[in-house]
Amino acid sequence: MSAGDSEVIYLDNNATTRVAPEVLEAMLPFFGDRYGNPSGIYRFGGEVRRRVERAREQVAALIGAQPSEIIFTSCGSESDNMALKGFYREHGDKAKIITSAVEHPAVRNTARFLGDDRGVPLTELPVDGDGMISPSVIDSQDINPHTLVSLMWANNETGVIFPIRELAEKVKARGGIFHTDAVQAAGKVPINVKDTPADMLALSGHKLHAPKGIGAAYFRTGMPVNPLIHGGHQENGLRAGTENVPYIIGLGRACELALERQNDENTRVRALRDRLERELLAKCKGAKLNGHPKERLPNTTNISFENIEGEAILLHLDHAGIAASSGSACTTGSLEPSHVMMSMNIPYNYAHSSTRFSLSIYNSDSDVDKVISVMPGIVDKLRSLSPFT
Ligand code: PLP
Repeated sequence: MSAGDSEVIYLDNNATTRVAPEVLEAMLPFFGDRYGNPSGIYRFGGEVRRRVERAREQVAALIGAQPSEIIFTSCGSESDNMALKGFYREHGDKAKIITSAVEHPAVRNTARFLGDDRGVPLTELPVDGDGMISPSVIDSQDINPHTLVSLMWANNETGVIFPIRELAEKVKARGGIFHTDAVQAAGKVPINVKDTPADMLALSGHKLHAPKGIGAAYFRTGMPVNPLIHGGHQENGLRAGTENVPYIIGLGRACELALERQNDENTRVRALRDRLERELLAKCKGAKLNGHPKERLPNTTNISFENIEGEAILLHLDHAGIAASSGSACTTGSLEPSHVMMSMNIPYNYAHSSTRFSLSIYNSDSDVDKVISVMPGIVDKLRSLSPFT
């Protein structure tokens, strides 16, 4: 699948995704003649309000929530901030936060801000060499009704899926509050807050074929919600600002599509990913998989190539018309291995070359063929130039 005019093979879908044509189509009228303010009491606004509420139902359906439990935000980061900072405002001096060592900066840096700036006691739970967390780590933690445990549903770099249901159940059994950053999981694996007792959850539009700049926060009925943005009465007074109507409509449609396609399309994506992974591990010398071999998002593979510089791999792939990523997009710019690789204790000569290929429903067999055909040559060439060898 091309990613625009340049016919790029786009394998960086954990960074962002293409807006689905169906999503764009649903949004366009709201940039055009359906520009009414949903708060208007005239029919022109009322119709828009109904579409916003329909979108709320579509988002809720993707995660098994009630529409009244969904708040539209500007992005996943805002949803995470709303959960963590709102929790702190509610619990003040008694607040305590537990996260994992591999959280996305949206949670990690928010928790660290509350720790450093507000003195909230903060624990970052370790992961094993596969990037997996063991539910038993919860048992040794001191958890009470003023403790927030925030653990990601799936990791953005490795795709590793945490045993969220078990973790949430353990936290709830001890009286704690459970938040999960489901930004990478939503739309790729089934999520149902009826089975998984999460109190709060974050998701983001641009990871599931809606545009950048729209997200949603789930707060279970009865959970106190503290707004980050004060002002008007929008979103029940919990997130002020005139609604970003076209993007909300787009997020709703994207969630509806994701739910429809969840089984068939993700099975197809998984087969593509598995073939890519199998072939790269077999054909590239010194290749090693990062992350749990089974408990992973169907679209993600993260592979290291011993003694090679990850940035150099990406540049060579780019030259071949392939877009991939080393670690998370938010950490590129730094040449240090990511905190995720470091937390997994990946040796430096591997961590440095960690390369993430993240697929989407728009990828095809020929995309995978192309990567398999160029990658062994790139690895051989870079290794022959490597100062390590
Ligand atoms: N959480 C995870 C796991 C992510 O992967 C990302 C984005 O990469 C975010 C949060 C932040 O989402 P957004 O870009 O919508 O703020």
